[in-house]
Amino acid sequence: MSPSSGEQAVGSRKGTMSRTIDAVSLTQALVRMNTCNPPGNEDQCAFHLGKFLEEAGFRISCHEYRPRRTSLVASIGGASGKSPICFTGHIDTVPLGTAPWSNNPFAAEIDSGRLYGLGSSDMKSGVASFVAAAIVLAPRLLGTAGLVLVITAGEETGCEGAFHLAELNKMEGILGSAGAIVIAEPTSNYPIVGHKGALWLQARSRGVTAHGSMPEHGVNAIYKAAQAVNALEQFDFGVPAHPLMGRATLNVGTIRGGMNVNSVPDDAVIGIDIRTIPGQSHSELLFCLRRHLGVDVEVTPFLDVESLHTDPSDAWVQSVYEVMTPILGEMPQPRIVSYFTDAAALTKAYSNPPSVILGPGEPQMAHQRDEYCFVSRIEQAVDAYLQIIRNWCKP
Ligand SMILES: [Zn+2]
Repeated sequence: MSPSSGEQAVGSRKGTMSRTIDAVSLTQALVRMNTCNPPGNEDQCAFHLGKFLEEAGFRISCHEYRPRRTSLVASIGGASGKSPICFTGHIDTVPLGTAPWSNNPFAAEIDSGRLYGLGSSDMKSGVASFVAAAIVLAPRLLGTAGLVLVITAGEETGCEGAFHLAELNKMEGILGSAGAIVIAEPTSNYPIVGHKGALWLQARSRGVTAHGSMPEHGVNAIYKAAQAVNALEQFDFGVPAHPLMGRATLNVGTIRGGMNVNSVPDDAVIGIDIRTIPGQSHSELLFCLRRHLGVDVEVTPFLDVESLHTDPSDAWVQSVYEVMTPILGEMPQPRIVSYFTDAAALTKAYSNPPSVILGPGEPQMAHQRDEYCFVSRIEQAVDAYLQIIRNWCKP
């Protein structure tokens, strides 16, 4: 075990070997593994965590959706007639930006209580915190409702790892069941009850090329695209605003068409970013949009992540609020975040149990140069996760 592996001490309690893993050291170990997506290469993180969890008594399975794009499922207990609680997080990071960092983004140095590094907030600290809590409690979880950890590859580019697991689950049941889900994405340890969905579409119109001096011999794909853009600006979702999330939105973000100014263009493509609210089905929305745009426009989704929302009055959410009240120094209020998460794939696979986004990272540091996570928040998150697991698994 190398000094950077994250294992600090192995203790003994009542004759049962009880491991402890320091979540801060484990965060550092994960940050030191470059999992920029693309290419990802998340296998190194997955195997590192899998080894610790297996030694602590977890059942482990690894699932590659492409070579080296490895997600990990680890479970323990689960025999009490109540479904386990699930903790989930991703181990890929976004690529480094072009602006140079002040420090090496893979050094995971700690300075003035801040752990610096790519993925420190989003979200290797979150994964390390729930793995550390899980390992501490492992010996006491046998015969209880139990715990399942879902650690995914490929989240940053559209939740491919989580969707792959959900697909495998349909045939092989690899995820088991879960009665509640904690998504350890960065929230500064504030419990969050939802996020909007994202549906990104490519809309293509085709035409017939001709010389620019004789446009009457061609069919102009850009004119068709322009009509589609106008139609999209007028599109009405026909659903009322959500009390926490507000309205669904639609934005045309890109338009591309034509090769040269003196030809009639035979191809034009627009990029559409739709953010949905709870109650909107993406498949129904797609059907309505296609009808709205007509047969001249081919609409193809290239990212499809549904919204997430749990009623804050849910008993389990309230129990999480109670755990977080002394840690935050205030009773949490229902809040949402602007980003989307793997939860969209996983909650469906688990038949929509209550879900909370709760993690030690700083949301405003995600995808930023000089990203950091506060060490104190990692320690708070471990403490919170221990209590949440104990509450769920008590006899
Ligand atoms: Zn993230």
